[in-house]
Amino acid sequence: MPSQRTLRTTVRFEGHGLHSGCKTRLVLKPAPPESGIFFRRVDLSPFVSIPATADYVVNTRFSTTVAAGGCAVSCIEHLMAALYATGLDNVTAEVDGPELPVMDGSSLPYVLGILRAGTVLLSAPRKYLVVTRPLLVAAERARISIHPAPFLRISYTMRFRHPAVTTLFRCYDSRRENFFTEYVPARTFGFLAEVEALRSQGLLAGGSLENALVFGDEGVVGGMKMRYGDEPVRHKMLDLAGDLFLAGCRVMGHIRAYRSGHHLNCRLVRQMLARTDCRMFTEQPEGESLPDPGSGLGAAAIFK
Ligand SMILES: [Zn+2]
Repeated sequence: MPSQRTLRTTVRFEGHGLHSGCKTRLVLKPAPPESGIFFRRVDLSPFVSIPATADYVVNTRFSTTVAAGGCAVSCIEHLMAALYATGLDNVTAEVDGPELPVMDGSSLPYVLGILRAGTVLLSAPRKYLVVTRPLLVAAERARISIHPAPFLRISYTMRFRHPAVTTLFRCYDSRRENFFTEYVPARTFGFLAEVEALRSQGLLAGGSLENALVFGDEGVVGGMKMRYGDEPVRHKMLDLAGDLFLAGCRVMGHIRAYRSGHHLNCRLVRQMLARTDCRMFTEQPEGESLPDPGSGLGAAAIFK
């Protein structure tokens, strides 16, 4: 029976938020069994704790934001994907501002920091959410569904009307592919034509060519090299893995996503939690939805 896991020791990160541009310090700390993933705003007095679950999601425009007691933490998805990928179940994430650091636009810096700190097993069984009947949520020109499967599989189709980025499809199967080397390093992306529009709305204040792939009509601008030929779709799948972890535990099922973003991802997670007739929790899954945390060192070797 798989056990829950936490950090061996504290790990610190520092950087600017993508949208606010504010410098933020993030400290990840070990947490006891059954405590889950929590954010704690330590710049406020008294501290405000916010559980990292779908019930606390208040905004999904451009990133995923959780809030409680009138206080929010935004851009949590890349950290959530890193916690998912490194097998962590219980972590307290102390942050001194409203937006997590964007780092290099991927989950790689978080994963490397976590692997350096190390992880430890706890004497409590890990819980899994297993889908027993299909669930679908849809919006205009986008949809996402989950179907019963004894492992995690994500089939994702991304579609843009842009000369450099059009339709991309990719399938992740937790039994066959290494999440660390194939998804964790995939960076966030945007389009040159939209950058100025977002800046005029006060967004992207911390955005730069160091933390996002920006596409012009001819391809990536600023001489940035793509880490994969299909890096944008891999990043959408990384975002999805992070949002999926807002179920409060790991999910088993086959996800089929078409143009799904944070809004639909979080709606699907809420459905999975609410529809007790379509899912169950188990401590003894047939398969495992996680790669071996040690294999993350492969990603370090490739992109350091
Ligand atoms: Zn993202």
